[in-house]
Amino acid sequence: MVGRLWSLALIASFPIPVACDAALPDASGLVVATSEPDAPAEDAPAEPKDAAPPDAPKPAPKVAKPEEKKPAVVPAQVVGSSARAAKAAPCETCRGDGQATEQRQGPARETVPGVRMPGKVNVEVRCKKCNGTGLSHATRLANEMKDFARQLARVNDSDDRWSAASEKVLENLRDLTKFGASAWSGLNNNKLRTMISQNKDPIGEVVFFVGRVGSDDVVAAPEGGMALRSVTISVGGRSAVLERPLVMDAEVDQTVLCGGVITRRAAEGGGFVIYIDRGYVVRFDGPANDLNGDR
Ligand SMILES: [Zn+2]
Repeated sequence: MVGRLWSLALIASFPIPVACDAALPDASGLVVATSEPDAPAEDAPAEPKDAAPPDAPKPAPKVAKPEEKKPAVVPAQVVGSSARAAKAAPCETCRGDGQATEQRQGPARETVPGVRMPGKVNVEVRCKKCNGTGLSHATRLANEMKDFARQLARVNDSDDRWSAASEKVLENLRDLTKFGASAWSGLNNNKLRTMISQNKDPIGEVVFFVGRVGSDDVVAAPEGGMALRSVTISVGGRSAVLERPLVMDAEVDQTVLCGGVITRRAAEGGGFVIYIDRGYVVRFDGPANDLNGDR
């Protein structure tokens, strides 16, 4: 598709007007066909209006979308990926309890008359795999979190189904926050702090981290476009800005799990600030407040 458009663009810029006229109707027909397969081509004979059944979906307005944009994700897909992340969260060893059973040597027992064997007892210990947090440290969880954020960033939020779907996404995110802020910050926050400050521009990286909501405002867009919601998150002395968050359940001063796709980084106030577009911000309940390092 990209290749074809590219060649069409070449033809369009070709100086001979005849070639241009010949190519353009085809070009607009192509663009319309990809976004609305049922719409008749521009030069096709018009069908009588009453031929369509009365309950047929209305044809979408013929507006060519920017070609660099990837196709939108339907809301149900985002629900699915958030559910997969929630399912991947509990530690595989302790199943999310944070505790493991260990066999230790107990008092000797006489199993056979005259023979004393060392006895064994089961004791509950802190799970070593997750350090007692119950949260998985496996790569799989990180991958599912990133998958979810990528899909969320591309969801068609003007779809009527998004409102109900976003509630389900929030439920899945709440399941994730049950492990507590300390567990989550131990997973990825160091990496995020490095990513903010390092020389390499982190644009395009998908991140998740724990922070604290500093402000929640509606600000003018950088290009002078429409105003947008902008949520500032402080992360261990550094800052991230969540622009146009699609799932937001938090207030100023609350500790949150948040993430998304980094769209730009700017030098502000003597350091870098990363910007995340169309991400998520969800508060921790209860035990989150015992978090110490990442305010
Ligand atoms: Zn565990």
